[in-house]
Amino acid sequence: MLLSFKTELKPNNRQVTWFRQHCGVSRHAYNWANSIILETLTLRETDKTIKIPSAIDLHKRLVAEIKPANPWYYQSSKASPQQALTEVRTAWDRCLKKVSKQPRFKKKGKSKDSFYLEQGTKAKPGISNDGNRIKLPKIGWVRLHEPLPITAVHNCVISRTADRWFIAIKYEIEQPTVSLDRPSIGVDIGIKELAVTSDGKVFANPKAYRKMSKKLKRLQRSVSRKVKGSKNRAKAVTKLAKLHLKVSNIRKDAIHKLTTYLAKNHSEVKIEDLNVKAFLKNHKLAGAIADCGMYEFKRQLEYKTEKFNSKLTLIDRFFPSSQICSNCCNHRHKMPLKVRVFECLDCGQVQDRDLNAAKNIGRWFEGIYIPEHSELAVSSTVSACGVGKPDSSHVVATVKQEVNTKSTHV
Ligand SMILES: [Zn+2]
Repeated sequence: MLLSFKTELKPNNRQVTWFRQHCGVSRHAYNWANSIILETLTLRETDKTIKIPSAIDLHKRLVAEIKPANPWYYQSSKASPQQALTEVRTAWDRCLKKVSKQPRFKKKGKSKDSFYLEQGTKAKPGISNDGNRIKLPKIGWVRLHEPLPITAVHNCVISRTADRWFIAIKYEIEQPTVSLDRPSIGVDIGIKELAVTSDGKVFANPKAYRKMSKKLKRLQRSVSRKVKGSKNRAKAVTKLAKLHLKVSNIRKDAIHKLTTYLAKNHSEVKIEDLNVKAFLKNHKLAGAIADCGMYEFKRQLEYKTEKFNSKLTLIDRFFPSSQICSNCCNHRHKMPLKVRVFECLDCGQVQDRDLNAAKNIGRWFEGIYIPEHSELAVSSTVSACGVGKPDSSHVVATVKQEVNTKSTHV
C-alpha cells in the first residue's frame, strides 16, 4: 500500500530563499485562478452557456498570459503553479457541490505555505534521495532531519509551518505481519482522559499539553496588544506560530501513539462517529483529540487499520454509550457531563463514566439501538446484552415496547 511520509528538512539559507520563491509562485497562480473563476461565475449569472475553465484551460491561459508578464515564474519548477491551478479547481468543485466553503485567496506571510514538485522525465529525473538527503529540481540536495527510505519518489509537497520546512512524499510499504488472534476493542474518546478502552486501559492527555495551552493564551494576548503592521507584532506572531507548532506536535505524537497501539493490537477497533462540530461546541471536552478534531483521529485510524489488516467500525452517533449500564442489565439513565461515575440503579454496579462508555462501545453491533429522539427514549432501556448478535428485529421490538409501556428506571 502507498503511505505518505512527512519529515522535516534542513535547508540552508539559499534553499530557504528558493522555497519561499516557489511558495510565492504557487500562491500567485492560485490567487490568479481563483479570481478568474470568480469572474466566470459572475458572468454565468447572466449567460449560463459560459463554462467554468478546467484546470487545463487555466494552465493554457497561465502559460500564454501570466508567465510572460511575470518572468519570475520561469525561475521555479513548472509543476508548482500547475498543481496550484488543480487545487483551486478541486476546491471550487467541492464548493459548488456544497461540500466545503468558497476557496479563499491566499495571503502572503501566513504561518503556513506550501508548494508541489514533480518527478521529471526518466532521462532527467527531478527528485531522488540517498537516504540522508533529497534532491529537488531547481533547488538541489537538501539535508533531512531523519533518514528516509531510499525509494522512487514521484512527487512531493514542501510546506512551511512557522519557520520550519517539511517534505511529504508517498511511498510503497509492505504490510507488516500481525498475529491472528487479536481481540476487538471499544474506545471512548476524551473528556478527562485522551481515551479509555473497553479493556480498562486509560490513555492520559499529555501533561505538557495543558501547560502549553496556557502559554498559548498569553502569547495570543501579547499579539493582540501590539500595533498592527509593527515589527514587534511580527515578532510576536512568529513566536506564537512556533508555540502552536510545538503544541500541535505534542498532540499529534500522543494521538499517533494511541492509534498505532489500537490498530496494531486489535482485529477490530470501534469508535463513536461523533459530530465534530457538536463535539467542539462543548468546552468541557478540551482534550487533545477534541482540539485537533475527531477528523484527525479517525483519519489516522482509517489508514492504520488498513495497514495492520484490522477493521475500523464507526458507531451510530445516537447510541447512548454513556447512559447504559454496561453490566448487561441495560438500565439507562441520563448522564450530565459533570457526573464522572456511572451508578446503576438496577444492578448496583458502580463504574467510571468513560470506562462504562468504552465497554458499551466495545459490545456494540449493528441494530443494537434504534435512535429515538423523544424524551421517552431517554428513560427507556435498551436491550443490548450479550456478546453474540441477536435478532435485531427483536431488539427493535423491545425498545418500542418499552417506550410504549413508559417503563422508567430513573
Ligand atoms: Zn446495571
